[in-house]
Amino acid sequence: MTQKCAIVTGAARGIGLATTDLFLEQGWQVAMVDRDESELSTAAGQRENVLAIHRDVSNPQDVGAMVRETKGWAGRIDALINNAGVAEFGPYEDCTFDMWRRVMATNLDGVFLCTQEAADELKATKGAVVNIASISGLRASTLRVAYGTSKAAVIQLTKQHAAELGEFGIRCNAVCPGPVRTKLAMAVHSQEIIDAYHDAIPLNRYGSEREIAEVICFLASDRASYVTGQVVAADGGFESTGVGLP
Ligand code: NAD
Repeated sequence: MTQKCAIVTGAARGIGLATTDLFLEQGWQVAMVDRDESELSTAAGQRENVLAIHRDVSNPQDVGAMVRETKGWAGRIDALINNAGVAEFGPYEDCTFDMWRRVMATNLDGVFLCTQEAADELKATKGAVVNIASISGLRASTLRVAYGTSKAAVIQLTKQHAAELGEFGIRCNAVCPGPVRTKLAMAVHSQEIIDAYHDAIPLNRYGSEREIAEVICFLASDRASYVTGQVVAADGGFESTGVGLP
């Protein structure tokens, strides 16, 4: 059987790296894309069946090269996992336009650019797109005006792409992780936020990278062949309940 190929953006660490590992365990090959050259080369150097692509998903030229390099290496693209993301938290009045643009450039522009650029290759394989949004895109809360808005837009973009690419057999779904102790989250989660999540999440804990990767790889696989346009929260029950809230 032909070996399938996934592009995973933001693959050097965190949820993207766990997703890379799960794809590899399931027999896929993975194009690992990241703008952090040193972490990417370390992570890729420790794995087989991967191609390290040092690119920035917010740069149109880089994204074009990402697709060409993946096609040249694997000959096909079966799944695009739009996982690269950045978070900058702070009071709404302190959100500068530069901060807003930085968050939108990676979290929203990156998803738009990568999906548009990979679409022709995904048409050829009737492939899948999985966008990593966030519970912060499902409901508003303080400190994340740019991050939350970018993730809400990714959810809408997922539905737009599902509507427009469905006729080509391409499925597009979004995963909304709850909190996971990655570098991204630990840089912006104060002790107050950590305590509040523990109380408000029915499972009373943060998730693991692997628990998010399981959902991503399922949605990318043929096992989800009739699932598109969906938004799946992997969040210990946070979004669907009001546990812990007065
Ligand atoms: P992380 O910081 O551990 O990993 C993100 C990776 O993306 C890094 O390796 C980084 O270098 C890369 N990256 C960032 N901007 C990039 C760009 N423009 N081009 C290429 N690579 C880029 O973070 P993570 O927690 O694993 O985050 C993965 C995704 O999950 C993000 O989209 C994030 O918003 C989302 N998410 C995370 C959490 C959480 O609690 N950790 C919760 C909800 C959603």
